[in-house]
Amino acid sequence: MASSTTNETASSTEPSHEDMALQPPAVQDPALLHRSLTQQPHLVTHAQGNYLYLPNGQKVLDACGGAAVAIIGHGNAEVIAATVEQMQKVSYVHTMSYTTSSAEKLATLLLSKSSDMHKLTKAYLVGSGSEANEAALKAARQYFVEKGELQRCHFVARRQSYHGNTMGAMTISSNLPRKEPYNDILPTNVSFVSPAYAYQYQRRGETEEEYSERLIQELRREILRIGHEKVISFIAEPVVGATSGCTSAPKGYFRGIREMCDEFGILLHLDEVMCGVGRTGTYFAFEQEGIVPDIVTIGKGLGGGYVPVSAMLLSEKVVDVLRGGTSAFNHGQTFQAHPVACAAGLAVQNIIKRDGLVESCAKAGKHLETLLRDAFTNCKYVGDIRGRGLFWALEFVEDRSSKRPFKKGIAFGEMVQKTAFELGVAFYPGTGTVNGIEGDHILIAPPFTVSNNELFTLVSVLKQAYEVAEKAVKPWVT
Ligand SMILES: *Cc1c(COP(=O)(O)O)cnc(C)c1O
Repeated sequence: MASSTTNETASSTEPSHEDMALQPPAVQDPALLHRSLTQQPHLVTHAQGNYLYLPNGQKVLDACGGAAVAIIGHGNAEVIAATVEQMQKVSYVHTMSYTTSSAEKLATLLLSKSSDMHKLTKAYLVGSGSEANEAALKAARQYFVEKGELQRCHFVARRQSYHGNTMGAMTISSNLPRKEPYNDILPTNVSFVSPAYAYQYQRRGETEEEYSERLIQELRREILRIGHEKVISFIAEPVVGATSGCTSAPKGYFRGIREMCDEFGILLHLDEVMCGVGRTGTYFAFEQEGIVPDIVTIGKGLGGGYVPVSAMLLSEKVVDVLRGGTSAFNHGQTFQAHPVACAAGLAVQNIIKRDGLVESCAKAGKHLETLLRDAFTNCKYVGDIRGRGLFWALEFVEDRSSKRPFKKGIAFGEMVQKTAFELGVAFYPGTGTVNGIEGDHILIAPPFTVSNNELFTLVSVLKQAYEVAEKAVKPWVT
């Protein structure tokens, strides 16, 4: 526990009476609309470092940072101090007339992460990944309006990926269960091509390069089918997060995609909301693909969970066109570049930089990979172990030789997650891994400050929880 005097809120280790009164059994029908109307989530009374604390005294190692959010753990005294200081200086101004140094500094810091090779020149700061992607869709469309290419109205995205839950971001997402009830009211100017997901979709006998080439040719066919002059952007997560579980593309895929976008004048929008900000061992996941995007969005790790903050980063190419046209981004939100959110985000990112935490993440990631491969390589229902940096997933299958997923409803990942939680470690499970309906995985995304001991603990607990699920699932397997 840090001995900072500014860190009053996080210093209590005992749950208050008020917290106790709110414990799940006492509340039959809470006022808060939770994700489920019948199930109550756990009450967390405080969180410190890499641990969450519950009212019953249970201490939980946060091995997924929520959804890969808490990159430096919880309760950091420096971030809290910077946030409070900003509130005392300027808590809010409207960006139509004002700016703040915290917003300017955060934007400058984020752009400094791009090299001359991938020159990102403007940062637009909002509050969530969905909002960043909405802004990116609008910036991309505006780019073509400014260029006089008004016929460009179509987006191309990939199946098995997620870009957010607002109407626009949901339109380009293909996380089917999250989208299902709204399909009939969503815009239809979007196409989906195959995911780059070797474990399930690379054919037997096909090399990695051939698989990449097949995917690139599929995209070409789709672009030509729509009419290449009608396409605004291609949108992809460099490493797919929650939808299919830490899936990176085969070699050569993104280079091929980049070339094709250039050939047809289509913008490349990379969604790094989950995989960015160091999570995969480099600041941007796309650095490992050797390509330059036109638009990038980041979110989850940006504020490390201390505040809601996300960003859309625009390349020089896009900004130049706006500058040569109306010279304004035709989009705005009340809370954009919010001073407090920016101050907290800046404090988190300064810690990442000062303490070399992206390098720590890459290093710890290698260790995590070894531990996971040692523990799970020969497990009956573990089909694939994949990831980069501190962003790993286990994909569960019913039959390893055919890679056949479990029947829908088994929710193997959730079974593992529930047991692991009881054993004191939090993971992030997912279903619909393979095609939106079938498939199970569990995601491991600890803070970059995770220790070797904690990595060892989390993998042992995951193994124990897996073994419980392996035994429990047997009766349903035919
Ligand atoms: C979480 C996520 C989003 C949406 O972010 P929100 O903050 O939930 O709106 C968008 N894209 C990806 C890749 C994500 O993982």
